[in-house]
Amino acid sequence: MDLNLQVDSLISAQGAWKIELLKELFVQEDIDRILSFPPANSLDDSWIWAYTKEGGYNVKSGNWLVLRLEVPQAHQANSNQLVNDLKTKSWKIETKPKIRMFLWRILSGALVLAESIIAHGMQDNGLCSICRCGVESIKHVIFECEVARQVWNNAMILVGQWNFGSVEEYIGKLYECMNKSTFPENRRR
Ligand SMILES: [Zn+2]
Repeated sequence: MDLNLQVDSLISAQGAWKIELLKELFVQEDIDRILSFPPANSLDDSWIWAYTKEGGYNVKSGNWLVLRLEVPQAHQANSNQLVNDLKTKSWKIETKPKIRMFLWRILSGALVLAESIIAHGMQDNGLCSICRCGVESIKHVIFECEVARQVWNNAMILVGQWNFGSVEEYIGKLYECMNKSTFPENRRR
């Protein structure tokens, strides 16, 4: 995984997206988003503000971002070191690049789920949309939901026997398992 990868590496000499490379690097949801607009070949690089539609800064969007950032920062203060260690490990786990990217995004809090949507007052029922019996947090969806446990069981990783307070601890344990040389090659995918 090249951390300095730039968008133009994803565009062919003919000016089209390199689909095979996208498949290697991104999950389907992101590929669909990327493919929904054509590559812009003739534009120079420029700075844009990510929190308004037009890409220009305004005070309202600045305040919105500040409010949004405050909650996770307080929550993460004591686990920052752990998260950073795990992120570093994410790039070394032997699996497909897009799975590494997915793990890195979980650790970065980049997957928006109901839990954070409620925090912003956009939805009033935060239950998991699959099992309806737990708050739809990242930890629930990836490790604790019945459906997720079934998937892990199929891969012979018995996450049902683990009971951690945070998604970071689950991922730490997962990396421990995957780092054992006895971990079968065909279950890393
Ligand atoms: Zn669930």
